[in-house]
Amino acid sequence: MEKKQVLIAKDTCPRCGSEFYCGKSGKCWCYEVSVSAETQEAINEKYDTCLCPECLKSLSENPKQIM
Ligand SMILES: [Zn+2]
Repeated sequence: MEKKQVLIAKDTCPRCGSEFYCGKSGKCWCYEVSVSAETQEAINEKYDTCLCPECLKSLSENPKQIM
C-alpha cells in the first residue's frame, strides 16, 4: 500500500482553538519564531500539539502565560 506523505498537516491550536497549518516535516513557520528552549519545553509539556503562530509568538514574548 502506498503511504501518502503529508507535508502540511492541519492542526487546531490547543490554546485558542484556531486552525493552522504546521509543516511537520521540513520547514515550518515555527522555525521563524524565536522561542527559548525553556519556553519550548514548557509548551511541549503543557500541550500535545503545536500551537498556532499567534499563540507561539505571544508565549515567546510572555512565557509566564504558559504557567
Ligand atoms: Zn493559538
